Amino acid sequence: MDKGKLQLWTVLDVIRWATEHFEKHEVDSPRLTIELMLCEVLKCERVQLYLNFERLMHKDELAQVRVMIERRVRDREPLQYILGHTYFYGYRFTVGPSVLIPRPETELLVDWSIKYIKSQPQCKTVLDIGTGSGCIGIAIAKQLPLVSVTGVDKSNDALETALLNAARNSVTNIRFEQRDILEQYTFGERFDVVVSNPPYISLEVMNELTPEVNQHEPLEALTDNHDGLLFYRHFARVLRTILKPGGKFFLEIGFGQAEAMRSIFCDYYIDILEDFSKIPRIVVGTV
Ligand code: GLN
Repeated sequence: MDKGKLQLWTVLDVIRWATEHFEKHEVDSPRLTIELMLCEVLKCERVQLYLNFERLMHKDELAQVRVMIERRVRDREPLQYILGHTYFYGYRFTVGPSVLIPRPETELLVDWSIKYIKSQPQCKTVLDIGTGSGCIGIAIAKQLPLVSVTGVDKSNDALETALLNAARNSVTNIRFEQRDILEQYTFGERFDVVVSNPPYISLEVMNELTPEVNQHEPLEALTDNHDGLLFYRHFARVLRTILKPGGKFFLEIGFGQAEAMRSIFCDYYIDILEDFSKIPRIVVGTV
């Protein structure tokens, strides 16, 4: 980002320069990336950038953008961590390295569980296992104000982010609890619905992930350090004690795991729903 001492940078200059720089370094969505960085630094909406292409950048603004660009290009840090937030199910979520970045496929899990809960007026309680940023539980709580949601996670740092996200989205019908579900799976109540997007990446596949994922996202949120199926096997053993009789569970699964689910959940009635790319993605089951 050197233009000689005397030359001043406009918003458009930065957009052009950074877009090219990101393209050269194979960063996804180059133009969008710089625009979102600029919105963060200039505290404005994207449309404002377009109305202010000729605005001159201040020295400290340029310095902030430069740091963001370096984090993205040199460190391969995900854009969402650099910005400090992302959107999920239409709501804004604070994210940082202690929580997984919510993925669009997971919105489908939220959609299906909301549809189910709406169709069952007796459904009042939902447990979100491995809540992370709180995205699943918060989206459900926000959409269904009469339902009480409990979000659990092993990580206290994740729970802090989840609490913050609940507060920032003005959700009051959710509470959070620190627990390692593999060890602590007896609750003082039984739930109507369980939702979870557990760590399902196998150790083997972890090495094939991009540095954005395997060097920045929390490992314990991504992988079970095993074959990727550890949590589902555990769920198959304990869901009958966590859910009420007739209760429903919605679990996200990874690419290629559908067949394994049929045998892990052979004692249950399950359906496997596909995502937008026709990849089997959500196990829906009844206990
Ligand atoms: N529930 C969060 C999500 O779906 C976190 C999941 C996780 O950490 N594995 O994004």
